[in-house]
Amino acid sequence: MSLTAELTSSQMKCPFCKETFMTTIVTAYQPKYYDSDLHPHAEGFDDLLLTVHQCPSCKGCFFQDEHFLRAIKNIDVTRREFSSIYSLIDSHQFPDVYVTRFLFCSYLLEKHSLASRTLKAYTWHQAAWAARVRLNPGLEKTFIEKTLEHYLAILNESSHEVQTMFSSSELQNYLPFIIGEISRRLSYFDQAIIYFQKVKDQKLSNLARKLSKLASEGNHDNQVIELV
Ligand SMILES: [Zn+2]
Repeated sequence: MSLTAELTSSQMKCPFCKETFMTTIVTAYQPKYYDSDLHPHAEGFDDLLLTVHQCPSCKGCFFQDEHFLRAIKNIDVTRREFSSIYSLIDSHQFPDVYVTRFLFCSYLLEKHSLASRTLKAYTWHQAAWAARVRLNPGLEKTFIEKTLEHYLAILNESSHEVQTMFSSSELQNYLPFIIGEISRRLSYFDQAIIYFQKVKDQKLSNLARKLSKLASEGNHDNQVIELV
């Protein structure tokens, strides 16, 4: 098995309660393949789980990612807020510990206006990936609906945020592609085809054409496709 990742044990400081704890982090990895909604997979370790941490003291979850940490920096997260997030999580059917971590981050961002739509979209998408990895298609569907809602809003708003977060190539290629693919997975086939047609980047547009063909066949067994 080729080594595609480097993991190390590291001390982490909780951004909520400031306690320190030891956890495993990924220092480098190269994805071996992607799913058609661009979920990266590494070989021999669980890349998704190691990107989100849960503080053993306050049970708060967070991504060790500068955008995420910046978004939550000025949030005064009270104990009451934590319980309200956990009760929202409990309202979903059977999210396991693993999916819960992602959901915690998604709900935390939803509750605060400071977080950008881009970050919210991406965090919901990761929650959807986590649900998929845990073979929970019902939850995955709920979470990709949220992802789609935010991505569509980003494309329809020509806001300052959109212009600073995305290059024009990403706006013209990545966003329509991901909206197309999420729409296909949700069986919104007409919408999928419209967005796939907008993709101009050569590499992505070849793939967009293949996925668009699947959408036009109206195949409801709309699984993700492995991209090597
Ligand atoms: Zn904590």
